[in-house]
Amino acid sequence: MADLHAEVLVLGGGPGGYTAAFRAADLGKKVVLIERYPVIGGVCLNVGCIPSKALLHMAQIIHEVDEIDHHGISYGKPSFDLDRIRSWKESVTKNLTTGLAGLVKQRKVTLIQGTGAFASANSVVVESEEGNQIITFDNAIIATGSQPTKIPVFPNEDPRLWDSTDALNVQEVPKKLLVVGGGIIGLEMATVYHALGSEISIVELMDQIIPGCDADLVRPLTKRIKKQYKNIWLKTKVDEIKPLKKGLKVTFSGDNAPEPETFDAVLVAVGRRPNGLKIGADKAGVNVDEMGFIKVNDQQKTNINHIYAIGDIVGNPMLAHKAVHEGKIAAEVISGMKVGFDALTIPSVAYTDPEVAWMGLTENQAKEEGIEYEKGAFPWAASGRSLSIGRNEGLTKILSEKDTGRILGAGMVGPNAGELIAEAVLALEMGADVEDIGLSIHPHPTLSETFAFAAEMITGTITDLYVKKK
Ligand code: NAD
Repeated sequence: MADLHAEVLVLGGGPGGYTAAFRAADLGKKVVLIERYPVIGGVCLNVGCIPSKALLHMAQIIHEVDEIDHHGISYGKPSFDLDRIRSWKESVTKNLTTGLAGLVKQRKVTLIQGTGAFASANSVVVESEEGNQIITFDNAIIATGSQPTKIPVFPNEDPRLWDSTDALNVQEVPKKLLVVGGGIIGLEMATVYHALGSEISIVELMDQIIPGCDADLVRPLTKRIKKQYKNIWLKTKVDEIKPLKKGLKVTFSGDNAPEPETFDAVLVAVGRRPNGLKIGADKAGVNVDEMGFIKVNDQQKTNINHIYAIGDIVGNPMLAHKAVHEGKIAAEVISGMKVGFDALTIPSVAYTDPEVAWMGLTENQAKEEGIEYEKGAFPWAASGRSLSIGRNEGLTKILSEKDTGRILGAGMVGPNAGELIAEAVLALEMGADVEDIGLSIHPHPTLSETFAFAAEMITGTITDLYVKKK
């Protein structure tokens, strides 16, 4: 195969990688994008964010249909055709990946399918079915992402032991499903399989699910899923999983450890690890730590001046929107623009039911770091819109600076919290204070009003609740 030269070589075609490639092409660079799979889009589009959202949408409808029964509308029990569910989900990802392939062509990015690894500080060798190809480059952007963490002592070859990709395949609905890890992946997949009829148990090492999030935002979710799921075992660890004919026999340890129990399937969702150790980084002189992370500066540069890294591989949080932002920075720095990573926050969203979203300073963090703050928390039980969709458990809270009222952090829990958090991010980035938020007229009746109400809880101007004067 003919050898190629790139002004910008991007290794990995996930959201970070294709964004970097497209931005660099738009800035006039000759770009080569290398992706091992036949389609670009990475984990997010193919086996992550997007297919999980398609399945979660289905789960939401199942729950809503079930709950509307209490309001006098009955549809009867749902029936499932897993093949059609799977093809609906696949049609969503196909739509997006086809769109991306079109964008590659329009931008004249050269897409090479194969597995790339550095051969030197200025070349990558790409292995594919057609043979090896050397691609030389002036600048490279590493965007090779991460993969699910496996626990070596578990029977990882057993088809009943799932990672998130297996869970998204919806090949079957296990009668009893154990989810190891009460983080975002575990909880989102639990939502899907509960809707499909599995009996769910969750085991989590820490003392709450979504351990990184403030307890008051997680509480309404915990309360709801406690009623839906069979077990939520906190401060509990899985010691052993024994494959038996009738299922996977799981032994637990910890403060609340139950007796050993057999499950039809076990989903392991205990985090992801970066793919930094698989790309021959040493041949290019790029430093990778023992976990597989690559350190970068605020211009996304590694220790080698013309090699950049973005996305999961440069550290937590492993989120597509962080990778996309970093991809643009790397492409712009290479193109001579004076930019760097100076975003004030990277929002987090768990697309559970209710959704949980947060950004900026958390209360946990404020307490740990001794940061003084004011807090405004508005319960959705007083939101007309929330009640009209049959839900009252939500909460919106804002943390603000004591003297100035400037917003420091915010979070919501409730349906659509993942959409609502964007306003808080904008407020933080624009340096808004709680007065600005309260005085911005929010449409009524919406869930978005709860953000203004939370601000008014701090300014003392709230009228939708009665708060005694301090
Ligand atoms: P996570 O880190 O969010 O959660 C893993 C959970 O497993 C943690 O709560 C941890 O305490 C627990 N845990 C670890 N070891 C355990 C053990 N041996 N037994 C029981 N519990 C254990 O990881 P994840 O849910 O696997 O997600 C991986 C990455 O993907 C995260 O960075 C996540 O943010 C990202 N992701 C994001 C979204 C989203 O934005 N909606 C969706 C999916 C994944």
